[in-house]
Amino acid sequence: MESTLLQRWQEVKQQIQKACTDSERDSVTLLAVSKTKPAEMITELAQAGQVHFGENYLQEAMEKMAEIKELVASIPATKDIVWHYIGHIQRNKTRDIAENFDWVHTVERDIIAKRLNEQRPQALGKLNVLVQVNIDNEDSKSGCLPSELESLITTIKSYDNLNLRGLMIIPSKEGSDAFERTKKLFDEIQQAHPELTQWDTLSMGMSGDMQQAIAHGSTMVRVGSAIFGARD
Ligand SMILES: *Cc1c(COP(=O)(O)O)cnc(C)c1O
Repeated sequence: MESTLLQRWQEVKQQIQKACTDSERDSVTLLAVSKTKPAEMITELAQAGQVHFGENYLQEAMEKMAEIKELVASIPATKDIVWHYIGHIQRNKTRDIAENFDWVHTVERDIIAKRLNEQRPQALGKLNVLVQVNIDNEDSKSGCLPSELESLITTIKSYDNLNLRGLMIIPSKEGSDAFERTKKLFDEIQQAHPELTQWDTLSMGMSGDMQQAIAHGSTMVRVGSAIFGARD
């Protein structure tokens, strides 16, 4: 029999728990990546206790947020969802991101950070941001180059409406040591910038490699298909 959404979610949580135990790590945050999946599935998981959800496409995400608001109005027990933007950011989309999300994983250049900072409504509190690193120096990949990281960090930390929390990567291929190298960068930045008191998040690992990512220091795994099933 095919497993249900809640069963797959429970299994993923157990796998994360086991990976944490195996590598003597504290808890790791599960970000449920719900791109292309309907509002009803998100609401079902939120009701069961899943807090963090990640979306890649702005228009789709905003439509679902509106639908979910209506759905949860009739389900009082649902916890508030914490929304993470994990897609590529175009310059003309920063306002909607700043106004609708709690976290952004894909900041890769100053112009984007600057606009998010200017456009974040004060009433929402600081926007949590991660810098996406192109850890394998791939031409085709998003993310700032490791060599550009220090200057970008120094700029972002001066922005009052952003809370710089850490790094995010999408590694190029299995078997590379991208996780180790990113963890090393993460620790180096922490040592060089003790004033970054909330530098605590390393976003790496997806359905296919979350265990390895956790073993190498991930604090947040972004899991889509293992929970929601394959995307079309
Ligand atoms: C789609 C996506 C994921 C989830 O990928 P799965 O392999 O389905 O777990 C994670 N991170 C980013 C940036 C994504 O775009």
